[in-house]
Amino acid sequence: MSNVGFIGLGVMGAPMARNIVRKGHALTVFDVNAKAVAGLVADGARAAATPKAVAEASEVVVTMLPDAPDVDRVALGADGILAGLKPGSVYIDMSTIDPETSRRIGAAVRRQGSDMIDSPVGKTAEHAVSGTLTLMVGGETATIARVRPVLDCMGTDFFHCGGLGAGHAMKCVNNLLATTLVAANAEALVAGLKAGLTLDVMTSVMQKTMAWNSQLAVAFPARPLKGDFEPGFMLRLAHKDCRLALAMNAAMGLKTPVGAATLAACQEGLDQGYGGKDVGVLLKLREDPAGVRVRLSPKP
Ligand code: NAD
Repeated sequence: MSNVGFIGLGVMGAPMARNIVRKGHALTVFDVNAKAVAGLVADGARAAATPKAVAEASEVVVTMLPDAPDVDRVALGADGILAGLKPGSVYIDMSTIDPETSRRIGAAVRRQGSDMIDSPVGKTAEHAVSGTLTLMVGGETATIARVRPVLDCMGTDFFHCGGLGAGHAMKCVNNLLATTLVAANAEALVAGLKAGLTLDVMTSVMQKTMAWNSQLAVAFPARPLKGDFEPGFMLRLAHKDCRLALAMNAAMGLKTPVGAATLAACQEGLDQGYGGKDVGVLLKLREDPAGVRVRLSPKP
């Protein structure tokens, strides 16, 4: 069992940290939100005053923070992780950020005789609670093997995507595509309904064609097609992920106009105050001006 440190005890981080304690690891935690820390202390973790103090107490340090500037500050800032990281330790960033920030921090970690891997997660807060997240991992095989028992506390689908930053690259590619499918489905269903088709006819035909996709098969019937726009996966996070993916693509000199249109659709939703709603609210965004509702018929 390792001494593990965990920083960032939010919607995702708190249940992930809790699963580490439950599997018998000694856990030291930090968050700027004292209430979040108190919750983990009640579950058996020890509180530390700074990220530096977390690192000093740990062989494995995990961060689960909102965005790249937060990770940068917590890792490299005054009283940050690097100030306390012991040689031979491993730093795992599980936040959704860009691959470049990860590689830059990783270089600083290695100069200090420690190592870093990235492991952003797929799926939802419910999967964080059940410890069944999808882990997209980037880093050296030997380093990943050393921290695998800690990763296994949080996730069940494990993918080694490549070197450091590859996990974040995979997450960017995945989430831009997944959000693009939501935006495209919303446009298609509203257009079909306005053109006089029923939802039943549209889905029956699409199931037999190349238009079928798992957003239509799984996510749409679960929430937006029932008129339920509560998260799930918040629109503001989808917007952030699309922004990160487009920045990654632009840095490689790629043109991704479809992705840019998806980001614009997400921005439109944020401008309407839907940031805290499920990403499926992109359907409502198209329904409102069209004056229609695309909904499943109640089961007889
Ligand atoms: P959240 O906002 O609920 O939690 C973030 C936590 O970090 C908060 O407790 C906050 O107080 C803490 N924090 C912020 N700045 C800090 C600092 N400088 N020092 C210490 N603590 C600090 O976010 P979340 O939903 O848990 O998401 C975390 C990451 O996981 C994000 O990158 C998100 O994109 C990604 N993600 C979220 C989901 C989801 O469904 N919520 C799913 C997959 C991935």
